[in-house]
Amino acid sequence: MSLEAYIRDLIRQTGPISMEQFMRIAMAHPDYGYYKVNQPFGLAGDFTTSPEICQIFGELIGLWCAHTWQQMGAHTDIIIAEIGPGRGVLMADFLRGTSHIQGFHDSIEIAMVETSEFLTSLQEKRLFNLHPRIKWYKNITQLPAKPALIFSNELFDVLPVQQYIKQHGLWCEKMLGIDDAGQLAFVLKKLQNVEFGRLGRNLDYQIFLPRVGDAAVFEICPDAVILWEEICARVKLHGGASLVIDYGYVESEFIDTIVALRRHKQCDVLTNIGTADISAHVDFGLLINIAQKSDIAVSQVISQGKFLRDLGIEIRAQMLAKNANASQKQELASSVARLIEDEQMGKLFKVLAVCSENITLAGF
Ligand code: SAH
Repeated sequence: MSLEAYIRDLIRQTGPISMEQFMRIAMAHPDYGYYKVNQPFGLAGDFTTSPEICQIFGELIGLWCAHTWQQMGAHTDIIIAEIGPGRGVLMADFLRGTSHIQGFHDSIEIAMVETSEFLTSLQEKRLFNLHPRIKWYKNITQLPAKPALIFSNELFDVLPVQQYIKQHGLWCEKMLGIDDAGQLAFVLKKLQNVEFGRLGRNLDYQIFLPRVGDAAVFEICPDAVILWEEICARVKLHGGASLVIDYGYVESEFIDTIVALRRHKQCDVLTNIGTADISAHVDFGLLINIAQKSDIAVSQVISQGKFLRDLGIEIRAQMLAKNANASQKQELASSVARLIEDEQMGKLFKVLAVCSENITLAGF
């Protein structure tokens, strides 16, 4: 059965499904979901991520963690956790790039938090022999109760969002149904009362919602809220820090940010179900809000370009260039530019960090 047939069956049985349900099935269905069936990364895949573009990305995240570890008094028993590690490239560069820092590798254990079995097996192969203590987990709640440095790149954008649209002054939820011609089609479900999301509780900034006009789209990602609350609670309880790198906004523009990508090109969300990557922009304003409520220190949201420049990406690139031939030099320069230039990934991608007391974070 195709994923589309599965979704049609589901809608016939239960009625229209929410955008959140649709995105979750399209991306993560255990048999036909995008991450189950596809090898999404790189030139042959559908998109390319920062660690896949240039080794310096993972190296600098490694140095950022090592610096934070030093700020924690070079604690001798600490978890380094990556959530959603894709093909494991970032962690491989992290480990190679920090092997010279005295005492660091002896003090850490590596936790890879990954839901896809297929990607887990790729990560196992890539990280083989790079560190003596690497374990895999399906959920962050399973990590041992210890101080941790937790980071993710392009994880939050894959978590499914609910979408609400204002129409004639009333909020409706955007759903996926089947139209009279038998085609998959979006439909709007009127809300009885303004209760957004299956979280079943209001989030502070929803008080702004009455002010927006017709056709405004409000997106909320319940999984992101739950995951980030868990991360902040861990940082508060056990100590450490967390870094989120992703594309998104600090203040919502109240627009539809869901995008489907196939072979590096944007495509229709409904025509490539299960074979295109679907993502939505990350609401960094909400992440700040949650961190503040969790009573931990939270950084400003800064651009990826500024973050990587301040951590020394250009100096590291010069060092690598010394041992490179002409074409390698050119490739290195263009991949660094891709990560940091405003018109490439430097501005759209943003970085946010939280930490426990007495830690000064590098790069902010
Ligand atoms: N960080 C990688 C991959 C980004 S793609 C990179 O930058 O290249 C998103 C990754 O998150 C994939 O590895 C996917 O399997 C994983 N993922 C999706 N949902 C997840 C969840 N709820 N918990 C942990 N990992 C998840």
